[in-house]
Amino acid sequence: MKQKTKSILLIATLCLSLACISRIYGETQYDVFIYVDLSITGIQDSLNQYRDDLENEGWSCFQRNVTSEDMSKDASFFRSDLAYFHSLFNIKGAIFVGDFPSANWKNGYLTDYYYMDLDGNWYDTNNDTAYDVHNGTIGPEIWVGRLMASTIVHWHWEYPLNETELVNDYFAKNHQYRNASSRAESTRPRALAYIDNQFAYGGDIRNESGYGYNPVFVNDTVSCFEKAYADVALVADPIANGTNTNANAYMNSLKNTDGYEWTWVFDHGRTEEHGFAKYFWNETSEVWQAPLMPNEGSVGDHYYQTDTPKTFFYIFSSCSAAKFSEDNCVANVAIFGEGKALASIGMTEDGSFPASWFFEAFDQLGQHRCIGEAFKALYNSTINYYDGAKAYKRLILLGDPTIKTNSPPYAPSQLSGQESGYLEVPYDYSANTTDLNGDQISYQFNWDDGTNTITEWHNSGETGNASHAWSCPGTYSVKVRAKDNYTTWSDWSQPFNVTIDERIRYMQSVKWPNSTYWKLFWNNTSTSASQVGIL
Ligand code: CA
Repeated sequence: MKQKTKSILLIATLCLSLACISRIYGETQYDVFIYVDLSITGIQDSLNQYRDDLENEGWSCFQRNVTSEDMSKDASFFRSDLAYFHSLFNIKGAIFVGDFPSANWKNGYLTDYYYMDLDGNWYDTNNDTAYDVHNGTIGPEIWVGRLMASTIVHWHWEYPLNETELVNDYFAKNHQYRNASSRAESTRPRALAYIDNQFAYGGDIRNESGYGYNPVFVNDTVSCFEKAYADVALVADPIANGTNTNANAYMNSLKNTDGYEWTWVFDHGRTEEHGFAKYFWNETSEVWQAPLMPNEGSVGDHYYQTDTPKTFFYIFSSCSAAKFSEDNCVANVAIFGEGKALASIGMTEDGSFPASWFFEAFDQLGQHRCIGEAFKALYNSTINYYDGAKAYKRLILLGDPTIKTNSPPYAPSQLSGQESGYLEVPYDYSANTTDLNGDQISYQFNWDDGTNTITEWHNSGETGNASHAWSCPGTYSVKVRAKDNYTTWSDWSQPFNVTIDERIRYMQSVKWPNSTYWKLFWNNTSTSASQVGIL
């Protein structure tokens, strides 16, 4: 009976929503619904800026303000709300700003997949407030991300940031990221795979002779990134007992001048920290063992909050890194900290997942689809996996799902053309490259004499041509790079040496009219051309 009353109330609320929205916005389609907890005051200016940014990028948005009364309702209320707006406007996804509830799956871990699958069946058969049956059409309809600062506990106790300040700071850096010129100054779009020993090795070591290095995690992670980034850095310990990967080295790599756009870290962890380890030889049982606690240092919430790691997006393949209901889980504190991060993917509970689950996701990013769409693709490609544990349901997206990323073109191959020549003679050079996203590209030839030539736009894979004449003898180290139509530059090609001869090919002596003087004229292109130089 109680349930029935609740349903009637819900329908009444939704009907009101329909009336309001139809009246205000007519039959407009909406892509993104921004759910905002009205109890967070002082963030409307930031939300306006965010909505403007989204509209400028082609999204249509609707801000759904939620009263404190509705905020006290459970996840089923908001799922019904989303399902309703999805049916009405075919929304692509939603972002929750504030302390919105999350559904529980078996054993009590949090899952936002409940909000992504809007037409599947979810049942709590034993009434323990955790869903335990999920069937029907279980694929995702929308993507969801959340900005929840209420569980951020600030280490700067002298200057505690409240929820309003944290949310405003987040939107400020979000706005900055969307300004491509400031992004280009601070970092280059590239990805870092950082894989600790046990994961690089691929499993446990049972005895000294039992090494069976299996690089599947390493290979799959790099393969994922290569679908979206031309420049992928890998740090992994291919030897089980190597020490390349440790907490200090990890933190140093995120201080790299250029930084990274994505960082994907594989190690062990718990909610507020993740750590690195190497195996140790157990004398007693004569086996190599992974330590229970990290013996090569931990990276904790304090680091993500107070340091400035240069990464915009993270995947944390470490236990419970995204258990956002607890204070300062690393995936959440990373996006509300002093660093640049705008979104994190991690697990709300202990567990692991194969890197190959992200193949489809990075394929989507490589096609300039937004992070939410990539996250949805991750689910599309994993829902048929390993149904028993539903491990994928614990994967969650914290931060803004609407961001689209871009990779620069690959560095062009070394340019081709004349390797030697004469002064003032134009020679033709060409170079070729592709853009991973299939964007249009323009080549810049640097002639090593203080001048450059920038070509017209070409389709990805089309050769760019330019010609140049040098006016001083010498050897020039010519190189070429390419930018895409997002004005993101590739690396420079390998240099190509061109030697310009100091000798002159054709010379002519001419007696000056009505004079006893003779002048020498020279020309490197032809004997009959106009005089280029007078000696
Ligand atoms: Ca591109």
